[in-house]
Amino acid sequence: MLDLQAIRADFPALAQSVHGRPLVYLDSAATSQKPRAVIEAVARFYQEDNANVHRGVHELAERATLALEGAREKVRGFVNAAPAAEIVFLRGTTEAVNLIAHSFGRARVGPGDEVLVTALEHHSNLVPWQLLCAERGATLRVCGIDERGDLRLDELDRLLGPRTRLLAVSHVSNALGTVSPIKAIVERAHARGVPVLVDGAQAVAHLAVDVRELGCDFYAFSGHKMYGPMGIGVLYGRAALLEEMAPWQSGGEMVSEVSFERATWQPPPRRFEAGTPDVAGAVGLGAAIDWLDRLDRKSVLAHERALLARGRAALEKIAGLRLLPGGRESSAVLSFALDKLHPHDVGTVLDLEGVAVRTGHLCAQPLLRLLGLSSTVRASLAAYNTEADLDALVNALHQARATLGG
Ligand code: PLP
Repeated sequence: MLDLQAIRADFPALAQSVHGRPLVYLDSAATSQKPRAVIEAVARFYQEDNANVHRGVHELAERATLALEGAREKVRGFVNAAPAAEIVFLRGTTEAVNLIAHSFGRARVGPGDEVLVTALEHHSNLVPWQLLCAERGATLRVCGIDERGDLRLDELDRLLGPRTRLLAVSHVSNALGTVSPIKAIVERAHARGVPVLVDGAQAVAHLAVDVRELGCDFYAFSGHKMYGPMGIGVLYGRAALLEEMAPWQSGGEMVSEVSFERATWQPPPRRFEAGTPDVAGAVGLGAAIDWLDRLDRKSVLAHERALLARGRAALEKIAGLRLLPGGRESSAVLSFALDKLHPHDVGTVLDLEGVAVRTGHLCAQPLLRLLGLSSTVRASLAAYNTEADLDALVNALHQARATLGG
């Protein structure tokens, strides 16, 4: 059994009122709140260990380097990568996808080739591929979804062709919550010799991710969506692929030997970590992993699933509310439209009731368009949410309807 009160007590930001109402935070898919252990780990780094890494011989530089590499080891364990060199620290999922597009993509994708994405992608796993395809004279293919919000695997099979150079697919959709069967998808792609990049931004806070079990080639995620700090993220890449990749950004720390004419590169991961890294962010991410590890993750998942089912059932009872599909397996997201009311107006009324949700196109404009919408309201869940939060959402939606008509 989860001790929800104890979990909530770990999050100072949850214990506040907004507009005179207790905060009901249902926007964790945008960014989760941070437990005290993470906030304190970041502060402690700056108070006690702050120094630049990999380049000093003094005590603080040594401690900072150990802290960064210790965090890398924690992330390695968290996703079950084999060597820690497969873990690259970056700013977040967006930067990880851009790194793959600029380095791996430029080397592998040429005129007439194809990159395959899906209709479920967040803009950050779509636009970099549009730019790459335009630059290389390649074609972007998009695998569609069915009426339940699941990827059409038959279509995926058809689209995986002899010119496909990469499949980029989200583990969990940020707009619908659909959990895609990554292991099966990777098997299909690999059977045709196509490498797979998984956008795990919405997965890692909820599902236990094992990159070796999934079999994917790359897996990207952001610290701030899994109780860690903003500004730090991770790219897992299979060692053999990272080895063959050229740097994208260059400068200090990623080089091995430099003359005025040329330079040689460090091995991964440092080849991809030019400049001073976000050491405090990595330390905070390590603390977030420790925090998650102290919970029983199976119970957290069961709790979030129960909340999701309860939320769906409650929202379905509201007349005029259109709940978007969430796939056969769904994670932590409730997206909906209320009558013809504009989602921003609904969100504003909810905010006045203390309920924080996301409204807009959710950085998934093509997907929403496919569903006949230009924007939506999204309530998203985390370990600290309660049934009372969902009741508050439902009450606030009734309030929105009363205030705005509809
Ligand atoms: N991919 C998905 C599925 C997301 O939900 C998000 C953020 O909302 C991103 C990528 C981008 O993450 P970040 O802004 O942390 O780089």
